Amino acid sequence: MNSVWIRSALALAAVAVAGLITWALADPVWALAAVCFGLALLLARHVANLAALADWLRDPMAKPVPQGGGVWDAVLVGLYRFVRARIREKEQLGGDLQRFRNAGLALPDGVILLDAHDHIEWCNPIASQYLGLDEQRDLGRPLVNLVRHPDLAAYLEHGDYAEPLTLRLSRGEGRVLSLAIISYGEAQKLLLANDITLTEKVETMRRDFVANVSHELKSPLTVVAGFLETLTDGNIKLDEERRQGYLKMMREHTGRMQRLVEDLLTLSALEDSRGLSDETLVDVAALLAGVRDEALALSGGRHRVELSVEDPLSLLANAQELRSAFNNLVSNAVRYTPAGGNIGLLWGRRGAEAVFSVSDTGTGIEPRHIPRLTERFYRVDHSRSRETGGTGLGLAIVKHVLTRHQATLEIESETGVGSRFSAVFPARRVKSAVDTGPARRPVPAGRNPG
Ligand code: ADP
Repeated sequence: MNSVWIRSALALAAVAVAGLITWALADPVWALAAVCFGLALLLARHVANLAALADWLRDPMAKPVPQGGGVWDAVLVGLYRFVRARIREKEQLGGDLQRFRNAGLALPDGVILLDAHDHIEWCNPIASQYLGLDEQRDLGRPLVNLVRHPDLAAYLEHGDYAEPLTLRLSRGEGRVLSLAIISYGEAQKLLLANDITLTEKVETMRRDFVANVSHELKSPLTVVAGFLETLTDGNIKLDEERRQGYLKMMREHTGRMQRLVEDLLTLSALEDSRGLSDETLVDVAALLAGVRDEALALSGGRHRVELSVEDPLSLLANAQELRSAFNNLVSNAVRYTPAGGNIGLLWGRRGAEAVFSVSDTGTGIEPRHIPRLTERFYRVDHSRSRETGGTGLGLAIVKHVLTRHQATLEIESETGVGSRFSAVFPARRVKSAVDTGPARRPVPAGRNPG
C-alpha cells in the first residue's frame, strides 16, 4: 500500500488510541475532547504544510522545496527529487546552448537563425558585422526590414534555397556576400553568410587579364596574318622594296608579341615562386653600369643618361630580378622622354634605407593615373606605349620584384616637367662596403630575365 495511506492511518490510529486511553482514565467527554484535539493538531499540520507548499509554488526555482513531517515527507521528498532532476536538466540544456553559442561565435562565417516569419532569433557577431545588424536590438525584427535589398527579399520570398544568393552590398566597401539558407524545424531557417569579396575580385581580375592578353595579342597577330597572306598570294605582285617593308613590319609585330609573352612569363615566374630564391649580396653599382649601357643603347643617342653612385652600397637581393626591375624603370624613362631630354640614375642612402631613383625630363604623368600605374596593362597613353614597344606590364613587374624584396616604389611626377621613380629598400637588405669586407665580396649582377 502507498506510504501516504499507511502514515495517515497510523496518525489517525494514534489519535484513536489517545481517545481510548483518556476514556479508560477519565470519562467519555474527555476522550471525545482528546480525539478532537488530536484531529485538530493533524489538520493544523496539514494546513501549515499546504501553506508552505503554496508559498513555494509561487516561485519554485528561487527557493528550496519546504520541509514537512509525517505524511508530507513522502510528498515533499518526491517533489524535491523532481525539482533536482529539472534543475540538472536545465543546467545541461544551458551548457548545450552555451556550447552552441560559442560554436556560432567561433564560426568564420555569419550565422543567423530566422523564425517562420523570417524574424531574427539569433545572429553571431560576424553576421551582424557583414549585414550591419545589432545582435541584441535587432532580435525579433524582420531581416528584410534591416537589410533592405530587393534580391534578399525576393530570395526569402521565393523559398527555393538550392542555390546560394550572391548579395552585393552598396554600403561600406561594397562587400559581396554569398548567402545560403538551410531550412530546419518548423519553417525555421539557418542563414549562412560568407564574404566572397576577395574571390569575386580575383575572378574579375582573372577575366580582365585573359581579355587584356587576348586583346594585346590580337592586333599584332592580325597584322602579321594579313602580311603573310599578301606575301604568299601568288596573284599579288610585290616589288622588293614593298616586300622588305612588309617583312620589317612583321618583324616589329612579332617582336611585340615576343616581348609580351616574355613579360607574361616573367610575371608568372614571380608569382609562382613564393619566397625570394638565389639571394646574394649584389654589387648594385656594377649592376647599374650595365643598366645605364642598355639605356644608352635604347636611347640611341637621343638622351643624356647619367649614373651617380652616392654610396657603393650592396643589396641582399636576387640579382636577376633586381636587374629586370631597374631595366624596366630606366627603359620607361627613355621611352617617355622626348629626344634631347635628361635621364638620371641615382643610387644611394636615405637614412638606413637604400634608394635607387630614375629621374627624367619626360612627358610626366597626371596625379590621377599614379595610383594605378602598377596595374597590369594600365597605360596613360596607349598609342605612345605601343609605339615605343611597351607591353603595359613593366611597372607591374617592378612592383612585384620590389614587394618580394620588401621594398617600395615611390612615384613623383609633374606633367610636362618629368617624373621620378624611386625603389626604396629596407635597411636589413643594405650592406655598406665596410660591412661586406673581403670575405663577402658582392657577386656580379646576372642577366635580365624580363
Ligand atoms: P608600358 O609598357 O606601357 O610602358 P609600364 O607598366 O612600364 O607599361 O608603365 C605603365 C604606364 O605608366 C605607361 O604606359 C606610361 O603611360 C606610364 N609611365 C611609366 N613610366 C613613365 C615615365 N617615366 N614617364 C611618363 N609615363 C610613364
